[in-house]
Amino acid sequence: MVRSCYVCKINSNNPESANLSFHRLPSDPAKHIIWISLLGIDREKTLPKLTLIYSKHFYDKDFENDIAGRKLLKDGAYPVDVRSIYDEQKYARNQAQKPIAVKGALSESD
Ligand SMILES: [Zn+2]
Repeated sequence: MVRSCYVCKINSNNPESANLSFHRLPSDPAKHIIWISLLGIDREKTLPKLTLIYSKHFYDKDFENDIAGRKLLKDGAYPVDVRSIYDEQKYARNQAQKPIAVKGALSESD
């Protein structure tokens, strides 16, 4: 069965997803709401019965191996906040532009 991530649509046939895992949304309603908001999923949207999230949406520290060596998501693990990823990109862009602005300011005052 081909599994695919609800958020980024990557599926288990994709070579990039090798050795990675797909995880169900938590059944606990409170956790469920936190997950979908962290993942940037619209709360009003009706989700498919089997909504899977690709392991790349979590930190490495949130996984543990079971006795069979399968990757399991720890209890109480939360996905990475999608907004923090956007913020990092914005931050990286600002940082990249900074030296140019500083250089210009310095040569003007010289
Ligand atoms: Zn995904």
